[in-house]
Amino acid sequence: RVLSRHGRDPHALVQILRETQALMGWLPRSLLSAMARELKLTLAHVEGVAGFYRFFHTRPMGRLRVLFSDNITDRMLGSEALMADLCARLGIKPGQVSADGRVSVDQTSCTGLCDQGPALLVNHHHVITRLDAPRVAQLAELIRAEVPVPQWPADWFAIDHNIRRADVLLGMPLAPGAAIAAALARGAQAMLDDMKRSNLRGRGGAGFAAGLKWELCRNATGSIPGTAPGSTHYVVCNADEGEPGTFKDRVLLARHADEVFEGMTVAALVIGARQGLLYLRGEYRYLLEHLQAVLQRRRDQNLLGSAILGRAGFDFDIAIHVGAGAYVCGEESALIESLEGKRGTPRIRPPFPVEQGYLGQPTIVNNVETFCAASHIAAQGGAWWAGIGTHQSTGTKIHSVSGDCERPGLYEYPFGTRIDQILEDCGARDTQAVQVGGPSGVCLSAFEFDRRIAFEDVPSAGAFMVFDCTRDMFEVARNFAHFFAHESCGFCTPCRVGTALVVKRLDKLANATGGGRGSRHDLDVLFELDLLLHGTTHCGLGASACNPLRDTIIKFRPAYERRLESLHFEPGFDLDAELSIARRMTGRDDPAAHLEISP
Ligand code: SF4
Repeated sequence: RVLSRHGRDPHALVQILRETQALMGWLPRSLLSAMARELKLTLAHVEGVAGFYRFFHTRPMGRLRVLFSDNITDRMLGSEALMADLCARLGIKPGQVSADGRVSVDQTSCTGLCDQGPALLVNHHHVITRLDAPRVAQLAELIRAEVPVPQWPADWFAIDHNIRRADVLLGMPLAPGAAIAAALARGAQAMLDDMKRSNLRGRGGAGFAAGLKWELCRNATGSIPGTAPGSTHYVVCNADEGEPGTFKDRVLLARHADEVFEGMTVAALVIGARQGLLYLRGEYRYLLEHLQAVLQRRRDQNLLGSAILGRAGFDFDIAIHVGAGAYVCGEESALIESLEGKRGTPRIRPPFPVEQGYLGQPTIVNNVETFCAASHIAAQGGAWWAGIGTHQSTGTKIHSVSGDCERPGLYEYPFGTRIDQILEDCGARDTQAVQVGGPSGVCLSAFEFDRRIAFEDVPSAGAFMVFDCTRDMFEVARNFAHFFAHESCGFCTPCRVGTALVVKRLDKLANATGGGRGSRHDLDVLFELDLLLHGTTHCGLGASACNPLRDTIIKFRPAYERRLESLHFEPGFDLDAELSIARRMTGRDDPAAHLEISP
């Protein structure tokens, strides 16, 4: 049934795996083998894809799979203790399946609910926010009594939008069709000119000019010989909002999906696309029904489909593709690989997606906030948008504010707003540091709070995590390092090995897990690893993996120095511990063969 629904299209492999797992609970090898036969793919390919995504299980993981969000802000709110409590009540260890096959409990990367954490996912579909000890105790009882999830207390699943400051995108909703009608009235070329006039820069982090991207795509002819310009172009919306601490796209999709789809449709008019794809991160699976309902309504309103708003030849529709838990798919070429049913490995570029993207065809990939902004530009004009913000950073920016503040949530400001203004508005006190743009962004200390959010000063993809003076910035950096090592796709050695070495070195420095045998040499090695990762990795994940480390070592050095036991080299490798298993197995233990650790 699942295969038929997707027309046995091998490019739909990720969707087929996801929907099959939703029916079966997990993906046994026999099923993958049958799938490979039906899709005319090799078993190695199907297994490779199933093994790549964190939300696919090739062994039974329990009828209920509970995943605690493990962002640093969840930890600050006590998520580790709550998970330990739930595991104890269920008699299992993290990552383990209960003996009766009922439940497993584990951690996952940030679920995009930092404004109402600690949070967890059940079966990748249901979200529970604002966890506390009584809620966890009740959760354990419900799981033990095998109460179906839909019968759990409804208020557990409530997700607030927490819009604290609204400007254009959050505060000026457009009537459905208004942007498309305005774009049609102008015509495709004039709309493109207006996009360039607006100087809108992509909101995904890199800040590439959206109008230029659309123009390059419009002019590209694709990789299939004989393809007419514009006939097979694609519009892709990147809703894989995986950067820890970022949750603005969650709210835009929940409240402003019309503007997002409208922006995609305007882009389709400009580049001549007939098909759009929205890549929804697996952690936001609970938004799927809502988004599909909005799409259907728009088809009924003639805002999607054939001859949109009566314009003959303007045909465009949008399909939704749900991801399966892989941060690297936020990188546009990895996202396209995933859309094509493959592992989310970033492509070698050039060629860029605007020339050869989805199925080898010219493709624009913009994120949710960018398309939302494009719809407002279509409705109100590029000059109007360019009049907001700063010269190099036009328009507004939405910030996902979380951490040590009284009012976490979304704050939309014109570009150029000072960090200390945002801190004051969100009720932050005694702030020691702000991580802007997520772990791959920049960590600012108090003497930098007069800086401004703008591409020419502090660029941001949207995360704004606040840490007060009680927080240990070493542990913040260590959490981020674990995140990058966990999310490395493993394609290139410097990232695969380098991120693991960074984690090992930080764990050595951490008193709890490394025995406190850190030295200055460890800091030197961390700087060397930073240089290595910056210069040699294949994509931005590896290149930015050490950003928080470098920032915190420079700006919060005492957090590291109090963990240094000596000025000289201290071994991180515990030879005795490594040999202990072999000694037990062989029954041989020569006292003279033990390495003496210096006092
Ligand atoms: Fe994969 Fe990391 Fe290499 Fe990017 S840098 S391709 S995430 S291994």
